[in-house]
Amino acid sequence: MSRDSATIPSRITVRELAELLNSSSVNIIKELMKIGVMATINQSIDGQTAVTIAGNLGFQATVDIPSTATIETAAMTEDQPEDLQARPAVVTIMGHVDHGKTSLLDAIRETNVTNQEAGAITQHIGAYQVTEKGQLITFIDTPGHEAFTAMRARGAQVTDIAVLVIAADDGIMPQTAEAIDHAKAASVPIIVAINKIDLEDANPERVKQQLAEHNLLVEEYGGDIIIVPVSAKTKQGIPDLLEHILLVAEIAELKANPNRPALGTVIEAELDPSRGTIATVLIGTGTLHVGEVVVAGDTVGKVKAMFNEWGKRVKEAKPSQPIKLLGLGAVPQAGDHLRAVADEKAAKVIMADKERLVGLDQGSASKRLTLESVSGQIATGQTKSLNVILKGDVQGSIEAISTSLERLDIGSEQIRANIIHAATGNISESDVMLALASQGIVIGFGVRSEPGARRMAEDDGVDVRHYSVIYELINDIGKALKGLLEPVAVEVTEGHAEVRAMFKVKGGRIAGCFVLDGAISRGSDCKVRRNGDVIHKGRIASLRRFQENVRNVQTGYECGVGIDGFSDFKESDVLEAFHIESTTPP
Ligand code: GDP
Repeated sequence: MSRDSATIPSRITVRELAELLNSSSVNIIKELMKIGVMATINQSIDGQTAVTIAGNLGFQATVDIPSTATIETAAMTEDQPEDLQARPAVVTIMGHVDHGKTSLLDAIRETNVTNQEAGAITQHIGAYQVTEKGQLITFIDTPGHEAFTAMRARGAQVTDIAVLVIAADDGIMPQTAEAIDHAKAASVPIIVAINKIDLEDANPERVKQQLAEHNLLVEEYGGDIIIVPVSAKTKQGIPDLLEHILLVAEIAELKANPNRPALGTVIEAELDPSRGTIATVLIGTGTLHVGEVVVAGDTVGKVKAMFNEWGKRVKEAKPSQPIKLLGLGAVPQAGDHLRAVADEKAAKVIMADKERLVGLDQGSASKRLTLESVSGQIATGQTKSLNVILKGDVQGSIEAISTSLERLDIGSEQIRANIIHAATGNISESDVMLALASQGIVIGFGVRSEPGARRMAEDDGVDVRHYSVIYELINDIGKALKGLLEPVAVEVTEGHAEVRAMFKVKGGRIAGCFVLDGAISRGSDCKVRRNGDVIHKGRIASLRRFQENVRNVQTGYECGVGIDGFSDFKESDVLEAFHIESTTPP
């Protein structure tokens, strides 16, 4: 009897395997039991076990080693609504220095330990969970909007709710205002905790008025901002604060799918001389188990052990749960994404691909967020407003500039400058970080950049512009925004190349081509035509002459071309390189 062949993914559910092998799930479960594996219909088994079962049922099976593309897709797959379950809210405490952020974090931790944990010593792991009315809340243990925005600048937003701490005797101070803008820029709901109400000169009414000046209207002023008076010292109001957090969490309908491979974010990480890399990870979705292979930033590892904030070993970590994780090969960075992958092979594929991508990035044009590039993005319809962080010498100039920017008439309602933060003072690291996290630019009027901010802007490619004449500032922004008016997009063909051979490379295939006319450039868009029909559109991701990476190749020369998301080249396919040019109406 000739054996049927089957290609099996590196993880497959019993039901899927049954379908693949034209068998019944019951039959597969029986076969699994014979080799000592107990599984239900919806549980997944690893590829190797599935191959054994397939073999026993007369199939010639192999495991399909996943390419990065398929792994990425699996990780990105949208969960079905029925898979989602409520998850605890993740809260960051923000506010001005000395207003009581740390005290509040301590007070919350002390008041809400469950009996079982009482007496246990809390460990600082960067985040902790408390229980209120039987429900969990996760607190990030590094207070302040700087850490919050630094994570966002790295592409990680873990916070669901910001608690803004304002000392009742001091009111809104510069960092309070900054925190409000940072939370708003991230679209994170704000709950205001007026702290130190035990003090005699506490003046909550004044704080409410000040909040209104920052467009945060509390309920009694007709708004929806929740305000809770608390004292971190006497612990008054803390249960009330927690209840309001639960309320806001409920409205936000925070959900995750615990039954999928885990995705998380590194909160902090360090190298312990005796135990190796220790990383605090906050699980975003899925469940992480001891023994699983994970990729975190540029490092790979196997979860050796996990500990909770009480130093207790845990076997698994669920959505919104922070855990200390042992087993990574190197120290990842705060803000790095972590994800569980099928096995070490999958991890290797991902890492190889990352290296390849990093290599490509170095070769491609820099991704600076300049006034010009943002303008270009708007021209191609990617964004409709220009995020601006405005720092000025005095309140008067800030107001004048803000009003002028708002009044800038460029003939379109939708395209405008969006001032996400305006304050007096020099340009700080926090401003640059906010620009980076919000894809915006920083404008300084009559102020300078602090040295740290200048370095960061250079390293991260954030556009920081200094002005001393208001007219020039407004004129520049106006010009940029005009460039953003609905563009007329024209497709400009750059050249054609014919596919003459195919080569296998790490992570895909490239086409050996001959440039028929024009030129082929790395980074250009490309259509793949087969018999005249366009069968794929993607970016030219790699371009080589012999072993050299090159930027472009002219007519009459040979080259190797790799295209994003496509590797199924055939001889005689024609690659048509093009770019979109946008012209704006005068
Ligand atoms: P942070 O800089 O915002 O983290 O502020 P801290 O938590 O370090 O608190 C600053 C100071 O305010 C410390 O001396 C605290 O003891 C004091 N403090 C914090 N919360 C309260 C409170 O509710 N009442 C009083 N009276 N003092 C407080």
